Amino acid sequence: MREKIFRDSVHNDIVITERVIYELINTKEFQRLRRIKQLGTTGYTFHGGEHSRFSHCLGVYDITRRIVQRFNTTYPHIWKSEDSLLAMTAALLHDIGHGAYSHTFERLFDTDHEQVTRQIITSPETDIHQVLCKVSLDFPEKVASVIGHTYPNKQVEELISSQIDADRMDYLLRDSYFTGVSYGQFDLTRILSIIQPLKNGIAFAHSGLHAVEDYLIRRYQMYMQVYFHPASRAMEVLLQNLFKRAKVLYPEHKDYFRMTSPNLIPFFERRYDLNDYLRLDDGVMNAYFQLWMTSSDKILADLASRFINRKVFKSVTFDEEHKDRLDDLRECLTAVGFDADYYSAVHYNFDLPYDIYRPTAKKPRTEISIIEKNGAIAELSTLSPLVSSLTGSTHGDRRFYFPKEMLNTGDLFNLDKQAFQQQIKNGHFNPKDR
Ligand code: CA
Repeated sequence: MREKIFRDSVHNDIVITERVIYELINTKEFQRLRRIKQLGTTGYTFHGGEHSRFSHCLGVYDITRRIVQRFNTTYPHIWKSEDSLLAMTAALLHDIGHGAYSHTFERLFDTDHEQVTRQIITSPETDIHQVLCKVSLDFPEKVASVIGHTYPNKQVEELISSQIDADRMDYLLRDSYFTGVSYGQFDLTRILSIIQPLKNGIAFAHSGLHAVEDYLIRRYQMYMQVYFHPASRAMEVLLQNLFKRAKVLYPEHKDYFRMTSPNLIPFFERRYDLNDYLRLDDGVMNAYFQLWMTSSDKILADLASRFINRKVFKSVTFDEEHKDRLDDLRECLTAVGFDADYYSAVHYNFDLPYDIYRPTAKKPRTEISIIEKNGAIAELSTLSPLVSSLTGSTHGDRRFYFPKEMLNTGDLFNLDKQAFQQQIKNGHFNPKDR
């Protein structure tokens, strides 16, 4: 095949040399990713963050392609060249099962994007599957096993899913570029020149230790500054409450939802198949929300309108030990006429920036290995005090969300945010205080 080039804002030229990769990009399932934003509601906070999963998937493919190319020429005795196409394909397809507003939708409708990813790859009815079968009949299963973490050669899996993999490397650079914040810009070129295959995994040369350190610090910064931003999470909880309201109304108002939001019916009725799932994207959802804005149900209409017009909820942080006192706050909402089920929410966001291998952990992590000058292999945090200080510790916060009208700007309560927060701590918040 003649080389195909996709111009890309992060990697400049993304080169496609394999026909199968090009055909996969042209399937309807992959083209659908153009209609799904990579960052979901984060674009409401960082307005440049409107890029699609399509561009991210191409980026992950490109980083993987550059790595396996180097492995093929520099480490032919450790890297099996026949795994190159498999690694590039799994990289390209790793997010194929993501849906519109994935994480919120999954919580409300019990879908699972990783499972859908494997389903799209292995189900004979998809175009993706048909293209993969042209490589070999067992190729779809192989790709699915890389994504399901069961492929025997761990080198391939770690390229796509580990603490420093092609997926994370692309999203940090891409999200940082499009959101306009610089925290995510690490030295990709350097990392790609020190990455090496090991017998059963991947490692990084000691000479590039600082580039790896820098990558982890920037990843940490992006989580704290961008991914966990309170306003993006406010849009997420708004969306969650909106879906919740629609779900509750559906049984009594089937005709209304058939008319305004037909593609959601299989999910309300909990009998969806793969095709139903693939019919949803950001545009479809946003059109439904606009139609719901005129619903005769005041809560549905109001939440939809708040979402479309970005009228975000406000929030305060709270400690786990004060969790019980949130009930008082919910009571306050009720006292002024807000239904607390739909006009408040609790949102937790925590991240583990780096961890060593702990066999007993719920999801044990593959640690980052560094190859020292004498050939010995060491775990990263034993060599870097900086990384060691981040290791094993979680960062993030819990927030209680409520309508802006509850603050003094909205006249309902003569309280500012600090006072609100203090009330949670003191635990004597009650409707009479206002
Ligand atoms: Ca991804």
